[in-house]
Amino acid sequence: MARIVQKFGGTSVADMARIKAVAETVKRELDLGSEVAVVLSAMAGVTDQLASYASAAGGAHYSPEYDTVLSTGEQVTAGLLALSLQEMGIPARSWLGWQIPIRTDGVHGKARIEAIETQALEQALANGEVPVIPGFQGISPEGRITTLGRGGSDTSAVALAAALGAERCDIYTDVEGVYTTDPRIVSNAKKLEKITYEEMLEMASLGAKVLQTRAVELAMKTGQRLHVRSSYSDVPGTLVVGEEEIVEKELVSGIAYSRDEAKITLVQVADKPGVAAAIFGPLADASINVDMIVQNVSADGKATDLTFTVTKNDLERAVKTIEEKKDELEYSDLVSDLNVAKISVIGVGMRSHAGIAQRMFTALAEKGINIKVISTSEIKVSVLIAEEYTELALRALHTAYGLDDG
Ligand code: ADP
Ligand code: ASP
Ligand code: MG
Repeated sequence: MARIVQKFGGTSVADMARIKAVAETVKRELDLGSEVAVVLSAMAGVTDQLASYASAAGGAHYSPEYDTVLSTGEQVTAGLLALSLQEMGIPARSWLGWQIPIRTDGVHGKARIEAIETQALEQALANGEVPVIPGFQGISPEGRITTLGRGGSDTSAVALAAALGAERCDIYTDVEGVYTTDPRIVSNAKKLEKITYEEMLEMASLGAKVLQTRAVELAMKTGQRLHVRSSYSDVPGTLVVGEEEIVEKELVSGIAYSRDEAKITLVQVADKPGVAAAIFGPLADASINVDMIVQNVSADGKATDLTFTVTKNDLERAVKTIEEKKDELEYSDLVSDLNVAKISVIGVGMRSHAGIAQRMFTALAEKGINIKVISTSEIKVSVLIAEEYTELALRALHTAYGLDDG
């Protein structure tokens, strides 16, 4: 008997009609003779609403009470789906994170799953019952409810699929699969039949929110096949698989964007050993992730400019952290810029082909888009541009790499 984990995102459970449709999808899989466990998100928009309540009450982003509030959206949908299934005569029950339990570390707001005890779920499945599990939540070593970071229900689903030894993990969402770029921005984006874990990992971490980065990381580590598909239709979606399963490797498989970027430039920093460590050490200590970094060659051997990016949320803390070190760093000015976006071109084919970056720079130049920072890795090229050009850049690059559909 095939064992399947089905995950439904926020739009797919947005109201009672959608939840009834989810129950029908679960039934179709059961009718094929599969064992099914279901993971759900909160109704679309609910987690944002809960976050604004928690903030208004004074809750710090990364605190136990904040997670107590944020995790409730999924409890509602899990209960409602279990009820809907029961109503159809299908044995089902909800299992909250702590009841399973799904054990995480104690980092509230972005906890990592450490272990899932499967005995109770195995028993439920053996009894012919559908376990309905709220995504996004777990329990800390201190016994408090934790959440896994925004979009974390994807990670719950992949972790459960791995723990239960599921044959497939189906991620049902509001688009038909993974596209060459966000189909809501580029209308002729193409749906990919397959994408490698590595490319999907880059796409997710560079901004494509169709899968949470940690979910892809975990799927790659455990070799869990993912099928990203639509909860509105039955057409095949996109399989996320190992590289060996893909015969024809595209040069560029996708383009991602992120508006969640902020740029900091330190003007005229002393050009001497230890300065970079003195800047980035304290940022790391403050758990601030630094992404792109460029340092100019100093003309006089004494001072140089240093530019780097952080997320918009972290900008204020990053500036404060650096300003506290001003005496030691001896820079003349600190300039920050929130009006930036990062555009990235991704493809495993880049490993063996030259000219990919050049095509990107030419396409952007032709549209008069200025590049502020560049960074590359083996399978991606990223550039930082002014935020207002995001959509123009995505469309121009999509065409330049021959990705347009039809
Ligand atoms: P869910 O609520 O189902 O988890 P999300 O909103 O988290 O759904 O993710 C789906 C959204 O991801 C889509 O509506 C789409 O706008 C966006 N997206 C961004 N990049 C891509 C891409 N390359 N392929 C598909 N969707 C993408
Ligand atoms: N409800 C959570 C969020 O909106 C988790 C998820 O949907 O994956 O981020
Ligand atoms: Mg999501």
